[in-house]
Amino acid sequence: MALPPEIEARASTGCELCGAAGPLAGHDVGAAGAPSDDATSRMIAVCGACGPQLPSDATLTPTSLFGLQESIWSDVAAVQVASFRLLKRLSQESWARDLLDQCYLDPSVAAWAAAGEGEGDAGPDDALVFVDSNGTVLSAGDTVTLIKDLNVKGANFTAKRGTTVKNIRLTDDPEHIEGRVNKVSIYLKTCFLKKLS
Ligand SMILES: [Zn+2]
Repeated sequence: MALPPEIEARASTGCELCGAAGPLAGHDVGAAGAPSDDATSRMIAVCGACGPQLPSDATLTPTSLFGLQESIWSDVAAVQVASFRLLKRLSQESWARDLLDQCYLDPSVAAWAAAGEGEGDAGPDDALVFVDSNGTVLSAGDTVTLIKDLNVKGANFTAKRGTTVKNIRLTDDPEHIEGRVNKVSIYLKTCFLKKLS
């Protein structure tokens, strides 16, 4: 993407993420959640090392991204958005985690950054919906009741129909939740549960 003159002027000192000298290319951080639909306000100028790491499924080279320690404080919202998303993806790095704890984003910038997260990749935590036997959505902390007797494998007891299970936990499988029955934490199939309101 060619750089509009105002972006070129803003990035006269180099890549807006790491400071490296050009050649720089434009990157659109995305319209989802953006406070304005002006395309120029969504564009940042990045070098050939940073640019390829921006797509959410790209491999990251953490050591090439220390510039985020400065760019996260940029007064350009789009630069903050791109920096924040990269830091989230680097959250296994302690320096990135520390930075995420310290940085303050204006609420509109934070919303923009969150809106584009995971774009193009269906992460395991995305859009898992848990429903009971009636199709009622289950959330962590809900109380449910069993609608049939269930043999609990490995625990040698039957969880009786009508048993109340409080404070359920969600799993990474939408067909199962976790809950305590007879003081044992077990997995329960959501199709055998009914949510108690
Ligand atoms: Zn760069």
